[in-house]
Formats: sequence, C-alpha cells, structure tokens
Amino acid sequence: MTGAASITGVATAVYRFPTKQPEADGTLRWDATTAVTVTLSAGGQTGLGWTYSSPAAAAVIQDVLADAVRDRDAYDIPAGRSAMHRACRNLGTRGLVAQALSAMDIAWWDLKARLLHIPLGALMGRCRRDVPIYGSGGFTTLTDAQLAEQVAWWLSAGCTAMKIKIGESWGTRIDRDLDRVRRLREFAGDSVDLMVDANGGYSVGQARRVGAELDRLGVSWFEEPVSSDDTAGLATLKSALLCDVAAGEYAADVYDVRALLPVVDCLQLDVTRCGGYTGWLRGAALAQAHNLQVSAHCAPALHAPVAASIPNLRHVEWFADHARVEPLLVDGTPDVRGGAMHLDDRVGHGMRLSREAATWCIA
Ligand SMILES: [Mg+2]
Repeated sequence: MTGAASITGVATAVYRFPTKQPEADGTLRWDATTAVTVTLSAGGQTGLGWTYSSPAAAAVIQDVLADAVRDRDAYDIPAGRSAMHRACRNLGTRGLVAQALSAMDIAWWDLKARLLHIPLGALMGRCRRDVPIYGSGGFTTLTDAQLAEQVAWWLSAGCTAMKIKIGESWGTRIDRDLDRVRRLREFAGDSVDLMVDANGGYSVGQARRVGAELDRLGVSWFEEPVSSDDTAGLATLKSALLCDVAAGEYAADVYDVRALLPVVDCLQLDVTRCGGYTGWLRGAALAQAHNLQVSAHCAPALHAPVAASIPNLRHVEWFADHARVEPLLVDGTPDVRGGAMHLDDRVGHGMRLSREAATWCIA
C-alpha cells in the first residue's frame, strides 16, 4: 500500500445529452439526460464519479462539498462522507444534495482503488464477475414498432427480463398501458420475465386493479405502482398482488431504506442518488437483514463493481437512456453480453471521461 494521500482537487463538469425524440414515463417527460461529473485528485491519481441530475448538483459540490473534503485523507471515505453530510445539514441532505454527495463518493472510491493500483471490484470484494442485467425503457412515447426495436436490442444483448413504463399520463390511459404489456409479451416471447414501472402514476385502487390484470398476464415486477412516498399504499399492494412490488430509486440514505424495506418485495437502490457506493452498500446490507434482494436502478456501468460485491443482488437495470449515454460520456464501460456486464481487472472502476464527451459539455 502507498502512504497517506490528501484530497487536493475537486473538479466538476456538466454534460447534456439530448434524446433522439421526447421521452416520457407515467409521470414525467424529458428531452435530454444531464450528467454531472466529479474528478477528485490525491497522490498523483484522479478518481471519477458522476450523477444524473441538474447542473445545480455541480454548484452544491463546488459551493459546499469541496471544502468539506479538501485536505482529507483519501483512504478515509467514511470520514469524508460524514463531513459532507454534516456540511449540508441546513440545505437538506436528500434529493439534489444526495445526488451531489453520491457523485463525490463514487469518485472517492475510484480514487482510492487507483491509489492502491487495484480494481474497484477487488477493493470492495466480489461475489461474482458477471452482473445480470435487464432491459429497461419502453417509454410511453414509443410506437409499437419502436418498442419492438428496443426489445430486439435487449434480446440481442441476452436479456431475459425486460421492463416498460406504464401509468401513462398519471394513470389515465390504463387500457393502453395493458395493451402495451401484451405487445411486450408478443415481442419478447414467452421465456422473458416481464416487468413494469408506473413511476407512482396510479392511486392505490387503480394499482390494485391494474396489478390484478398484470398477475393474469404473468408480469413478475410492478415498480412504484403508487408513489414511493406512500409506504402504506405500497404495503397494501404488496399483500394484494402476486407480482413483486419494487421501489427505492429515490432513497437517499439508510433511513429512507429502512422505511421501504417492510413494504417492498425487492429493494431498488441507485448509486447516483443513495450516497454513492458507500450508501448503496449500507442499503444492501439492510435489505439482506430483511431477506430481500437488491436491484440496481439505472447507471448500469457505475453499478457494475458494487453490484458484483453483494450476495443479495437480483439484477442491474440496463436503462436505455443510460446505456446510450454512458459510452458517450466515458471510455471503458463494462462489456455487455449474454445478459450480463462482465468485470475485468482494470484499476478503479476502469472508466475515464471520453475525448468526445467535450461535445456535450455545457459547464
Ligand atoms: Mg422506476
């Protein structure tokens, strides 16, 4: 091991990647994906992290988090993480602040592994080298032909589970929602696990009725049937339905995770929102204590090493927008084949900002 190294630099950048066409789920529309990157420096090495957020996350990092970590020992991530959390007390520590903190934490883990000249997988310790993924996208804005194209892409990557968005227009297009699930079955075939995500678009009663139909269609996963803030609603649906009820993409810390664990069948965690790799590992340990698996939400390349390191992993979401953006933003994303991401032995998480990323840099 090399000697002590102090954090000397904190640099941010913002990249905006327009979508080919406007996209929507049940409760939000968007026309671009924005990534906020952090580069931490120490001991002649740099670590890279990012989150999918607003340019305001970069301002939080520069205005608050950078001062909290500068000159700290680069090997002592938990101390730095606590310092960042304390520094944001009066701003609120969830949402955008948690996204900023997540990018910092990810960069810090990458930096530490690079200082030690080992892969991040080795630093965390691995349970597996092949990390199962599922195809995700199926936006409500897609035509049937576009959905068929997306499903063909997932099949060619070897995905055996696929997820589409339902709950269109805040639960006002239920007939179309169910029709699109039937299209998914038709395009994907009988051997694929079908999953849906309503992004909190239904009321409890709607979700119970839609869920009963999803059970008849053999759907195995119903994500955010109601808002994940409605834990009582999730609990009702979990006991009423056969399909697994999943939530957790907005969890920012262990307290958010604790509130969800009794009311989901599978916990979702997003490394770019839940406090980075540190927060993800803590959340996954809590899930294990409830005999629950964890599914990684979005940002597939960033999740690869941490998903490989927990025993109770279900899969990683290979989200269409991020699967498109990550190779534009960075070089070195994990190889995807046979329905899995494959870890190699590159130092850190193995990714560096790509030369072409400058094309999309807006700050
Ligand atoms: Mg979701």
